[in-house]
Amino acid sequence: MELDPNDYRRALQSASEHALDWISSLPERPVRPELDVGGLLASIDRPLPENGSDAAAVVDELAALAAPGLMAMPSGRFFGWVIGGTLPAAMGADWLVSAWDQNAAMRYPTPATAALEQVAGSWLLDVLGLPSESDVGFTTGATMANWTGLAAARAWVLDRADWDVNADGLAGAPRVTVLVGAERHTSLDLALRYLGLGTPTIVDADDQGRILVEDLRAHLHEVDGPVIVCLQAGNLHSGAFDPMRSAIRVAHEHGAWVHVDGAFGLWAAASPTLREALDGIETADSWATDAHKTLNVPYDCGVAIVSRPSVTRAALGTQTAYLIRDSADVSEPFDLVPEMSRRARGVPVWAALRQLGRNGVAELVDRLVENARALADGLREISDVHIVNDVAFTQVCVTFGSDEQTRAVTARLIDEGAVWMSGSRWRGEEVLRISVSNWSTDAADVRFSIEAVRRAIAG
Ligand SMILES: *Cc1c(COP(=O)(O)O)cnc(C)c1O
Repeated sequence: MELDPNDYRRALQSASEHALDWISSLPERPVRPELDVGGLLASIDRPLPENGSDAAAVVDELAALAAPGLMAMPSGRFFGWVIGGTLPAAMGADWLVSAWDQNAAMRYPTPATAALEQVAGSWLLDVLGLPSESDVGFTTGATMANWTGLAAARAWVLDRADWDVNADGLAGAPRVTVLVGAERHTSLDLALRYLGLGTPTIVDADDQGRILVEDLRAHLHEVDGPVIVCLQAGNLHSGAFDPMRSAIRVAHEHGAWVHVDGAFGLWAAASPTLREALDGIETADSWATDAHKTLNVPYDCGVAIVSRPSVTRAALGTQTAYLIRDSADVSEPFDLVPEMSRRARGVPVWAALRQLGRNGVAELVDRLVENARALADGLREISDVHIVNDVAFTQVCVTFGSDEQTRAVTARLIDEGAVWMSGSRWRGEEVLRISVSNWSTDAADVRFSIEAVRRAIAG
């Protein structure tokens, strides 16, 4: 097999055509995939060929093999889990990131991506209203962004208890108490597990899943020793925000580090009309969010923000002869995230923010919320449909009279394929869960989706 540098032109042209075909099919195609994994493997599962193939032909073959198994996640009629689409500039930027193939670990060898990511980080702090001196690292997603914030938290609270976790590990260390709301996202439990902090202590939540500050205070009174408090901006089911200012104040009175999981909800801070719901959030110590949800950049892109730069670098940074520091005073990208080698995933964030501008980000967030409210209002008019949550942000939970009926409506809706909404269970009930996270969802999609639910109810 001859490898030829000219293959790039043909392979990329082919990829570009397939990509545009896919994108232009989105408005009309069913949202769900035609085949499941088993069905796809009937054509994909072949022994490794002895001999190679032409590069552009491989791209063509790939597009054809994948087509029946693609979910129209970038469609304006996809409302599953919490999943954003991709803004055009962010997608173009992502293609360039692949073509440039920079290893974004260090500043000195890859100044262009380091500078763009640094500015993307400053813009994020600006648009989210967080302290401007914070560290910003680009992780694979909010799970690892939560991990990063909590790694900094672990080092800081143990340091204040005269324990050096880098040197001495956790064996024999003072017990770190981690307090989380009853309805925190499961990725926090994962991050705590990866950090050796075990299962967190649960603080009660109200009927929208918001942490109860009085219960938080009661738990804090009982804690002796290092403590981390995890708050949530954006509940997966209700979209609700924990009461930031009062919860953070109580936690700080007890010497806790406060980490906020704002995977999608942190973006409310970018909207002048919604910002008040997050009042005081800038007083926390670390924050995790996703750019691949509300900001609509391609997978994978999370953002880890830590208000105390020296803490992140002490927790995650390293010193070797071959990792070259641009300057002793400036943190390197590898000081801010668990990864060393990685793609320059902050560059599509730069492009998304550049395309939208400050007003565009606010409008994007406001539009998602408007569409969520319009969906809830339209569905509420159908008999036997009940909206379970206060629609404070982008999430809507719906029931249809009984668990059995909710399951049946969800199954028919997904099967018909006009829209995709996920099933879940919340507060003891089966629910149909709608997340409006795609920039391209418009009023027509909302009307169309309400009609799809009406059809699913009729059976
Ligand atoms: C999606 C989500 C996460 C996990 O984010 P990933 O990007 O999937 O790692 C964490 N918390 C909340 C509230 C989420 O919605």
